[in-house]
Amino acid sequence: MRNLTTPRLLNVSPGGDLTGYTGAKRSLIVDLKGLFAREEAFDRLVAERGRDLAYEVYEFRPDRVAPHELVFGTSTLHAGKVGDEFFMTRGHIHTRTDRPEIYFCHAGRGVMHMEAPDGNTNPIEMTPGSVVYVPSFWIHRSVNVGEGPFITTFCYPADAGQDYDIIERSGGMRTLIVEDGDGRWAEDTNPRYRPRSEAEQRRYLTERAG
Ligand code: ZN
Repeated sequence: MRNLTTPRLLNVSPGGDLTGYTGAKRSLIVDLKGLFAREEAFDRLVAERGRDLAYEVYEFRPDRVAPHELVFGTSTLHAGKVGDEFFMTRGHIHTRTDRPEIYFCHAGRGVMHMEAPDGNTNPIEMTPGSVVYVPSFWIHRSVNVGEGPFITTFCYPADAGQDYDIIERSGGMRTLIVEDGDGRWAEDTNPRYRPRSEAEQRRYLTERAG
């Protein structure tokens, strides 16, 4: 007989805590080194409060890692800015790049910033109730453009994996999410961005389903 995974009940609190999580990752402000274009502003912030929490992720991962299982979790990204850039997560593409993901916003105001391997960007603003579908092959990161914590839940195929270095290899995403001086966010060109070669793009766009 087939060995079935046991059904589970989890609970997400209004503050983004997940009961029954199986893994947690906490990133301090100092851990965000290299993400922001304004390096002197980042160093000043680290000197002031580098040990403060920047974001935390709690996830529930079923016992078996198989394409037909799902990983579910919560992400809480705290508010702040480095120069005119908003706090953001490190971001990633899935190691199996053809695996998609869903994000649901519980609290705060954020942007799901997405970039295709060819550098085409697609940032989408999220407020409580927003659901963003991150399709296969898109690099994605959360940006907090609000005043309070930006809290989301996410769900993706259990075998997706995360490649956290893809953004760093290109000098960041092609665009920065910055404050426009009027209390709103805007995309700005990232001067450090290095486009991916066509061979690299093709490699990321290869389907590895199954
Ligand atoms: Zn993801």
